[in-house]
Amino acid sequence: MADMRSQERLQKRPRSPENVKVRVLIKFFSPGGGGRRKKRRARVRRPAPLQIRSYKLLKKLGQGSFGNVMLASFIKSNQLVAIKIMKKRPEIMEEHHALRIAEGSPFLCHAYAAFQSEMKAFFVLEYASGGNLEALMENGRFSSSAVMFYAAEIVCGLQYLHSKGIVHRDIKPANILLDGHGHIKICDFGFAVHNMFGERTTRGLVGTYGYMAPEVMLMEEYNAAVDWWSLGVILYRMATGRSPFYNGRVRTMVKESTISEKPKYPEWLSGRLRNLLKKLLKKNPLHRLGTNGNIRKHPFFASVDWVELERQRLKPPIQPQVPSSENLGASSEELSLSLENGYSNINILQEFSFLNPTWQEYAVG
Ligand code: ATP
Repeated sequence: MADMRSQERLQKRPRSPENVKVRVLIKFFSPGGGGRRKKRRARVRRPAPLQIRSYKLLKKLGQGSFGNVMLASFIKSNQLVAIKIMKKRPEIMEEHHALRIAEGSPFLCHAYAAFQSEMKAFFVLEYASGGNLEALMENGRFSSSAVMFYAAEIVCGLQYLHSKGIVHRDIKPANILLDGHGHIKICDFGFAVHNMFGERTTRGLVGTYGYMAPEVMLMEEYNAAVDWWSLGVILYRMATGRSPFYNGRVRTMVKESTISEKPKYPEWLSGRLRNLLKKLLKKNPLHRLGTNGNIRKHPFFASVDWVELERQRLKPPIQPQVPSSENLGASSEELSLSLENGYSNINILQEFSFLNPTWQEYAVG
């Protein structure tokens, strides 16, 4: 059933195979939080940051499998934020949990707040104004120093997530954003899985074809090594301008190529980078760098000062241009969402709403 639903969802919106996400998991959803549902509607007074009418929606930043991400300004302070607007579904609580954990690393996208209306769930996220790696890759391959910078920041973000028992499972260039200074922000924890400590493994065909590790495609048990595989694919693309495996429209061919083909490494690729890619793209997850060995000690990163990098003191290769909210008009989504302020005790996701205290203090006042 869950399989069919995910197929239907995929069929509704034609997308390139690279951006098609797959999820085959069966979960149970109790919209009333498991308790007895009350039919009587109760109006609840909420602070301004927890109501969609407190934001001016400006433009669509992205459309994902489960909803839209809008650029918005928090009216009270004029601060630009990104609001992820989704239909309520049980996995949202996993994304919610990961976003709370993400607050501990500068290389992960942070949430300022979360709230819900009767039908929708909203995450107010810090706005990563520098675009994403997918867009940057359209300009051709990256210099070796740029590959090293982005790779090192992604390593920090991934290691932090993994240290908290979270495996992202959808690492791909579209989910690697850049902030206004050009630093990495890993976003989209919609497929994250938790409690992956020690020897724990999980299952499920989850992720995006082209970036998915062989063991995921083979429906085997897997662990955090799947994120290191995806990093290997991203680094290969950044360095060479193309994918290491077939990544066209035919899904069976993507699978076949990922599982059995060896990537070709151009002659001009430095020995260190080639060695790093080979170690990340090991088909056997037990031998894959990241979970097997200390990736920070790999010779490709020999010149990285990890302490300075973690403090975001190294200069990013690109300084993005930060847009101003004054040049942006209101979006047509505004009207439809203003109808979404309705809130009752029906269909509530328990323990969903939160307001980041730091944001409340400095931006909201
Ligand atoms: P998908 O199914 O494509 O993975 P999704 O529904 O899980 O999407 P996200 O990946 O979180 O949604 O967001 C979709 C797109 O919106 C991202 O690729 C990115 O371009 C944009 N986006 C998301 N969060 C932010 C943010 N905080 N700042 C700027 N842009 C963002």
